[in-house]
Amino acid sequence: MEYEPVIGLEVHAHLKTKTKAFCGCPTEFGAQPNTQVCPVCVGMPGVLPVVNKAMVACAIKVGLALECTISATTKFDRKNYFYPDLPKGYQISQYDEPICRGGHITIRNRKIRIHRAHMEEDAGKLVHAGAAGLHGSDYSLVDYNRGGVPLLEIVSEPDIGSPEEARLYLTELRNILRYIDVCDGNLEEGSFRCDANVSIRPVGATKLGTRAEIKNLNSFRAVQRAIQYEIERQTTILDSGKEVVQETRLWNESDGKTHPMRSKEEAHDYRYFPEPDLVPLVIDRTWVTELSKEMPELPEVRRQRYMDNLKLSYDDAFVIVESKEMSDLFDQAVKLGASARDCSNWLIGPTLAYLREEKKEFADLALTPKNLYDLSRAVNDGAVSSTAAKQVLIELLAKKSEVATIIKDLGLAQVSDEGDLRKAVSAVLDANPSQVEEFRQGKTKVRQFFFGEIMKATKGKANPQIINKLLDELLVQAKV
Ligand SMILES: [Zn+2]
Repeated sequence: MEYEPVIGLEVHAHLKTKTKAFCGCPTEFGAQPNTQVCPVCVGMPGVLPVVNKAMVACAIKVGLALECTISATTKFDRKNYFYPDLPKGYQISQYDEPICRGGHITIRNRKIRIHRAHMEEDAGKLVHAGAAGLHGSDYSLVDYNRGGVPLLEIVSEPDIGSPEEARLYLTELRNILRYIDVCDGNLEEGSFRCDANVSIRPVGATKLGTRAEIKNLNSFRAVQRAIQYEIERQTTILDSGKEVVQETRLWNESDGKTHPMRSKEEAHDYRYFPEPDLVPLVIDRTWVTELSKEMPELPEVRRQRYMDNLKLSYDDAFVIVESKEMSDLFDQAVKLGASARDCSNWLIGPTLAYLREEKKEFADLALTPKNLYDLSRAVNDGAVSSTAAKQVLIELLAKKSEVATIIKDLGLAQVSDEGDLRKAVSAVLDANPSQVEEFRQGKTKVRQFFFGEIMKATKGKANPQIINKLLDELLVQAKV
């Protein structure tokens, strides 16, 4: 039978606040274990949580960016469960009155609906140490620094139809969170985490199949691979006449499979009840309006502007907008008057290749908008060839400098002096009489050979337009 996958994603995003969700402890990543804790975030008896306004502001901004409905009132609930990284025995979360409902993300003209987004606190982190035993370790240590760090859980509707679409959804969501500056989107540090709900159903069926929830997805590649594996696993089960079990499964990067972790718990297992230590929040509409005025241009709008105003292709616009730093620099260079097409080619081609090779981030580069503008002008004015411009660019990526300085230092200035070039062209024609003879007999292809030889002789610095003009002229003379 033919099946189609139905995929929904749950993203946990760390909100970029200075302090935790319900106490004043710092949230900075990488501190010594258990140095950023207080009685509130480890849940000592008798302490009282206080809502961090910055967390609520971040959540509202996300809601605005995703075009969600921002609730007029919202409340916190206790989600009860036991785990060593949760000393309180419960997590403060939001159950039936989340801050955001509805909304959507558009990817390649397809709308993926958002079901809801709610605020909650993160748990601590277990560090499995030693050599043997469960998880390959003798014992586990617990670091509570992460306990109480504010999270926004963003839940999509099951609108995603393929592993590739899941990757695009995550890329776009992470991008949006970075553009509005509420999350750094760092997967390695766990500040952007994803669980995937995957089921399959016969093509055309409306009823959803039984789903598995996949956890432990640490990269976009892992998300794609795990979903693909899960679709194949469920297809084999259904094809053999058996039924898929509803459960939580763990992705294992090394064997490329998902493994059963536990049967899927239902909401009633958590015994949710309203958090008695926090009053419900009434969201002030004027505050929402103020926050909406702070919203920057979002990725989708920016991409459209690049396509409409700067005539970039969707794919080029997508790649540039994917990095806010790159996109901002591109915008500034174009504003100065640089050619959008040249800048886009330089950024997508040599710059991204350089970043991959050097294992660097865009923010590490020395390149400035002025550099790009100067380089674009140098090419336009014929001061440097477009081939040599790439060499200049590589220098600008690595160290702070000026376009003119690099052109001079590397001796890349384009030769446009007709007198000098005429000598070079004549010399090449004189040195290759048999090819000139071939040309005379109608083998016009040989012209390409002359062009290459002249470029070689001038170390690629000859102005190609003038070379072509001189070749036309001198070859016609040779023909006569
Ligand atoms: Zn604390």
